[in-house]
Amino acid sequence: MTIVLITGGNRGIGLEICRQMEELGFFVIMGSRDLNKGKLAARTFSKHVVVRQLDVTDTVSILKLRQFTEMEFGKLDILINNAGIWTSHSNFGKLDISNIRKFMDTNFPGIAQKIRNSMPGLRKAGIISQVKGAEDISLSSVKHLMETNFYGAWRMIQAFIPLLKKSEEGRIINMSSGMGELKSLSGVYPAYSLSKSSLNALSIMFSNELKETRIKVNAMCPGWVRTEMGGPNAPRTVSEGADTAVWLATATEIPSGKFFRDRKEIDW
Ligand code: NAP
Repeated sequence: MTIVLITGGNRGIGLEICRQMEELGFFVIMGSRDLNKGKLAARTFSKHVVVRQLDVTDTVSILKLRQFTEMEFGKLDILINNAGIWTSHSNFGKLDISNIRKFMDTNFPGIAQKIRNSMPGLRKAGIISQVKGAEDISLSSVKHLMETNFYGAWRMIQAFIPLLKKSEEGRIINMSSGMGELKSLSGVYPAYSLSKSSLNALSIMFSNELKETRIKVNAMCPGWVRTEMGGPNAPRTVSEGADTAVWLATATEIPSGKFFRDRKEIDW
């Protein structure tokens, strides 16, 4: 049986990848930061899924999952580094704007939408500050984002390489973003963009380092997808967002060290 591990599998694109992979007959290990959320998300799945607690910023959590995978299956075939965050710290200390946004969307959707609509005007009028660029963003928020989006994936790869080497053809798929494309780096959303450019660089580095093994490493962009991260105005469904990851996981022949969107290679 082919074993696939998906990080951040409890919602959004990750959950959809889990669903599609299970439907295709793979055995899915769904990594979920909160075990209960993962179990709830997987309740409609058949028995070819196991939900395990996994926080990619926590080495102990990662090592526990590796131990489980080794004892249960003795190998890993596909690692999909999907877990990611968009932003968490505002520029006011530790205030977590994404949680406030979620709370407003859930409890006061009408007001939340009105605030959203008025943001450009408020910015233009100088009533609220512009989104911070690379020049003035707080580096603690950059580090916070890198911790999940970049070091999280790196930790996962380091931990699971020994098990991927036991696969007949190991694959690592890193969920990146067009915002990480080198040509589009502009200081807009600097922390997120940089975390994804770095993830791309990591993909190239590991694909070269693992050249003599059977493990292939690629990065991909899902496009702008309607999830909690992408928001309600994104044009793509989760199914469209998951498509290239599932293709990279299942196609019989894939290259290594490339960046894809819509199953086609794109520039770094
Ligand atoms: P999402 O709906 O916000 O889901 C993010 C997932 O990552 C959640 O399951 C979340 O778990 C998990 N996660 C966050 N921090 C984690 C951690 N430290 N350890 C383990 N899991 C963690 O986002 P999405 O839109 O599905 O995005 C999935 C991936 O696609 C991300 O890497 C994102 O950067 C990338 N992407 C998305 C878009 C888009 O338009 N949506 C575009 C380009 C790239 P909790 O439920 O516990 O928070």
